[in-house]
Amino acid sequence: MREMGNKNQKVIEVSELLNKLPIHKERIVNAKFRNPNGVSMKLNNFKAIDPRHNGKGMDRYSKLDEEVFFEFQNDTIGLSRIAENIKKTVSDSKLVKSLYQIGNDLEEDIQVKEGKVIYKLHRYRERNYTLNKKKKDNYFKKHGKLDCEICGFDFFKTYGEIGKGFMECHHKIPLSQTEGEFSTRLSDLALVCANCHRILHRELDTSDIIGLKQVIISMKSKLNTK
Ligand SMILES: [Zn+2]
Ligand SMILES: [Zn+2]
Repeated sequence: MREMGNKNQKVIEVSELLNKLPIHKERIVNAKFRNPNGVSMKLNNFKAIDPRHNGKGMDRYSKLDEEVFFEFQNDTIGLSRIAENIKKTVSDSKLVKSLYQIGNDLEEDIQVKEGKVIYKLHRYRERNYTLNKKKKDNYFKKHGKLDCEICGFDFFKTYGEIGKGFMECHHKIPLSQTEGEFSTRLSDLALVCANCHRILHRELDTSDIIGLKQVIISMKSKLNTK
């Protein structure tokens, strides 16, 4: 228990890091927010959850603590990659500033295993206007239309002139798998309609284009057999 106390240098470092995360609308003026004591308590909650841990932890943990623990207990590589990405992000003050500007939209209904910082990074990567335009131009040249790669929706077909050229870009490579630079290639992007994009983001860690395409196909065939 002692080694994870609030005087532990590592605990203090984590506390400082958590206070720098660009996920809150305004800087929280609350000395207790994720302070070393809170971090220490959380770590001891995990001890209580960990079946491999002998001895006691603090067993007043939440359902979410439990979910987080079991999600990552056998994926320490994935977990440390996520942590590295978050650390790298926080150390880049220009990036942090940009992330603050990304609204907390969708926040209530998304489940992001990697956490809000990674989610914001994902949105940030998708906001590259020049790259998105290039992607759309290339696609249009090749296919003569701009339709959703998942459901086939074509904004121009439905809305006419006002929908012309409209399509969102989704970044296919999960940030948890990214190492090094966060640079984006055209082939990393998929063109998706606003509906499909939102659904993809409800569960960022399982967001794959082919998977969602199959969901739509199987839902359609269910409807047809009724
Ligand atoms: Zn779609
Ligand atoms: Zn996306």
